[in-house]
Amino acid sequence: MAENPFLELDRKMVGDIHTSSEAMENMEILCDDFGSRFGGTAGERQAATFFRDKYKEYGLSKARMEPYKYASWARGETTLEIVSPVQHEIPCIALPYCPSARLEAELIDVKDGMPGDFEVRKLRGKIVMATSFPGRGLGRSVHRSEKYARSALGGGIGFIFMNHYEGLGPATGSIANNREALIPGISISKEWGEYLLRLVRRKGKVRLKLRTRNRTRTRTSWNVVGELPGNRNSDRWAVIGCHYDGHDISQGAHDPVSGMAAILEAARVLSAYAADRIGCGIRFIAFGTEEIGLIGAKEYVKAHLEEMGQIRLMLNMDAAGGAGRKGIVMHHWPVLDDFFEGAREQMAYDLPYGQRLSAFSDHFPFFEAGVPTASMGDVEATFSGRGFGHTAFDTLDKIKLSNLREAASVACRVLLRVACAEKWPARLRSKRVVERITKKEPNLEIVKVEAELEKLYRRKR
Ligand SMILES: [Zn+2]
Repeated sequence: MAENPFLELDRKMVGDIHTSSEAMENMEILCDDFGSRFGGTAGERQAATFFRDKYKEYGLSKARMEPYKYASWARGETTLEIVSPVQHEIPCIALPYCPSARLEAELIDVKDGMPGDFEVRKLRGKIVMATSFPGRGLGRSVHRSEKYARSALGGGIGFIFMNHYEGLGPATGSIANNREALIPGISISKEWGEYLLRLVRRKGKVRLKLRTRNRTRTRTSWNVVGELPGNRNSDRWAVIGCHYDGHDISQGAHDPVSGMAAILEAARVLSAYAADRIGCGIRFIAFGTEEIGLIGAKEYVKAHLEEMGQIRLMLNMDAAGGAGRKGIVMHHWPVLDDFFEGAREQMAYDLPYGQRLSAFSDHFPFFEAGVPTASMGDVEATFSGRGFGHTAFDTLDKIKLSNLREAASVACRVLLRVACAEKWPARLRSKRVVERITKKEPNLEIVKVEAELEKLYRRKR
């Protein structure tokens, strides 16, 4: 067995986490008292204040709310009706950043919305429907944003996102980043989607009428930051972060705040037992408004650009306190493999680690700035969709204290080791290297597709 130089600290921190119910108590406040914490809600500000106060209570220094301006979105009324060959109303919700609109058009189905599904269909002037299934056999997942972008790029005038899970209602998710979207997008349940598909199959053309009223306007949100200063390499930082905004239709218990609850626990025990041992500093960040375009993380990187070279590792804890193995998914940083192999052996813990990149969470603006980044998760798990995530059923009853404890334990032990490493093998990447990786990485197809959408957006607006 590998020797563990942090055995005493590990025992204290993990023992404390596993004999405390603080993580679940924090979850109850975040979910039941503050609600979705979606950008623009009262609960959003309450949550931000709560994190700042918890950081202080746990002994972090410089606990602060860093404000920034963004485009908030609030839903109004949305109706979808079949006009022909039958008349029928279909329950639906607007997707965040859906503009207000009134339109009538023929429905076209693009199945799961894989790239090939778009190429063979004529979308111009139609309402395009794709399921939420992320695909298989492509070697990557196809995100809602890509399906929406391809619909708009193909000339579609409306987008319907059909849940691929039964019994979970419609699945939400934004269709633009920090601004009103180009064409309206709505979401329906699997059951109503299947009904529409049967109608197309049995009767041919189906015409739909969509009415939606929503509001986009400038507001203020906050990244909430707290610190444990380092004792030796005090100009270097380990950063751990998670967003705290959920979607307005749910409590966002799993995605995101199970991750934030784990971070708070890690902060609590690191502060209590390891504050005088850590070499470099540890910075804890609760990011605002991730669900509508990673806005908080982008704003943080912009505001702290000159500090990016000081970050040893940014660990993203988005939704990390749910089920599943709590490992380290690095974003193209094989130079850190040896470090995590060493940590795995020391910790006597099954810590899966490896490389896989995604563009869809708060690590991505840091990745783009060249910072070494990773997410907590299972690199070996295959992704087949969000399940209850992004639906009204992402609620606290599904969260287990044992999972929160495990996520918090892994996070504090990994952070301790990052902060105490004598030498750190990863350093800031140049823009050129980031661009080279971005170009080659199949999981970053969205970057290219959204660049195309940007051109269309500029032509139309
Ligand atoms: Zn999330």
